[in-house]
Amino acid sequence: MVHAQGGVKFQNWAKTYGCSPEMYFQPSTVEELKEILDLARQRSKKVKVVGGGHSPSDIACTDDFMIQMGRMNKILKINKEKKQVTVEAGILLSDLNVELNKHGLALPILGAVSEVAAAGVIGTGTHNTGIRHGIFATQVASLTLLTASGEILECSESMNPELLQAARVHLGCLGIILTITFQCVTEFYLQETTFPSTLKEVLDNLDSHLKKSEYFRFLWFPHSENVSVIYQDHTNKPPSSSASWFWDYAIGYYLLELLLWISTFLPCLLPWINRFFFWLLFTSKVENVNLSYKIFNYECRFKQHVQDWAIPIEKTKEALLELKGLLESNPKVVAHYPVEVRFTRGDDILLSPCFQRDSCYMNIIMYRPYGKDVPRLDYWLAYEGIMKKSGGRPHWAKAHTSTRRDFEKMYPEFPKFCSIREKLDPRGMFLNAYLEKVFY
Ligand SMILES: Cc1cc2nc3c(=O)[nH]c(=O)nc-3n(C[C@H](O)[C@H](O)[C@H](O)COP(=O)(O)OP(=O)(O)OC[C@H]3O[C@@H](n4cnc5c(N)ncnc54)[C@H](O)[C@@H]3O)c2cc1C
Repeated sequence: MVHAQGGVKFQNWAKTYGCSPEMYFQPSTVEELKEILDLARQRSKKVKVVGGGHSPSDIACTDDFMIQMGRMNKILKINKEKKQVTVEAGILLSDLNVELNKHGLALPILGAVSEVAAAGVIGTGTHNTGIRHGIFATQVASLTLLTASGEILECSESMNPELLQAARVHLGCLGIILTITFQCVTEFYLQETTFPSTLKEVLDNLDSHLKKSEYFRFLWFPHSENVSVIYQDHTNKPPSSSASWFWDYAIGYYLLELLLWISTFLPCLLPWINRFFFWLLFTSKVENVNLSYKIFNYECRFKQHVQDWAIPIEKTKEALLELKGLLESNPKVVAHYPVEVRFTRGDDILLSPCFQRDSCYMNIIMYRPYGKDVPRLDYWLAYEGIMKKSGGRPHWAKAHTSTRRDFEKMYPEFPKFCSIREKLDPRGMFLNAYLEKVFY
């Protein structure tokens, strides 16, 4: 009999959302998962599966049954010839990266953090940057799914290919992902080069930056023209690091957090803070070399609220300049740095924000200095307005106010995804409050 805990409180990484599931399970086997689904069916309970709990929204919350997948975390198979790895869906990418490296392999792209689970990362359409690369879920070659009825479905290019196109970005609503096979590449080193620029220069020369660096992104400092450009490219150079406790932590974290907290009483300080920290930390050229996953990942030190919409890549300049103009003409609307701008190749995954178009992701942020929420409504609404006008689609894991009516317009294959979901889960066992806004 599978063991359940009561009284567990769940909170996401940023401590911005939480819930108190009636029963909390940490199963180790598929049989235990089936038992939990049987119990949920008998008692008409909803079920929410949670991976790393990093989603900045309430997408992983429930008051009914929560299944934490941390014990289903094994590497099942490594096929060196095909460069593929098959894992249990609860494995953390931080563990997978290390194991792959032992076999001379690596994932071609990762998000900013790896303390996230394989199924959680694909499920919300996690992405990084590099116009030759798709979102993380494009690396999924096949997967297996346990449905609400207790059936196990294999999905690959040859078996249930339509379901594979839906389940790569599954939102946690199609069933429980049991295993995933990822397409890997030979392990590689990356050189990261960071250098200062201006918004005008970067936007005027976007194509050239996109061509020059395989994994190009940039950070714009709102209330200024300042930009920090980041190139990441394959290299044979030996590892080197410019990390410094004083600049990275004493200044870039402790001093910044104090000033951000002070600015909650004096918001007019924020434009100055953004400019001052650019001058302190981002005005010289910096290089680092390391294994790919150690360069892709960076330490996100601050708890934060975020929005991150994908717009058609050709709208990048117009949208960013509109956001800049909006902040300039409304001095009361203040924004923390940075606005992180990344680029991703289009794909054919039904609910991928990059469905059938190369995209620019524009990530805005408001930190929570010492856990304090900073008013952000005006900034949030202004940004969302620009993203919607630009034909944007919100990141599934991050903040947005979109509902079914919006998604029907954004996603040409939304009806197809809905009919797959309704067929697999007619009672809505895998829905929660977040997903009800998406589907009802
Ligand atoms: C510090 C930080 C940095 C981040 N950086 C990036 C970034 O660079 N790029 C980016 O795009 N996003 C980024 N994100 C967002 C993050 O990648 C996503 O929220 C991701 O989904 C988190 O994975 P998780 O395992 O924590 O998922 P969870 O939050 O635990 O779950 C996400 C969804 O997946 C479902 N799920 C999880 N496991 C299963 C399973 N086995 N079967 C079925 N459903 C399942 C859940 O039910 C839920 O719907 C970041 C978030 C944080 C907090």
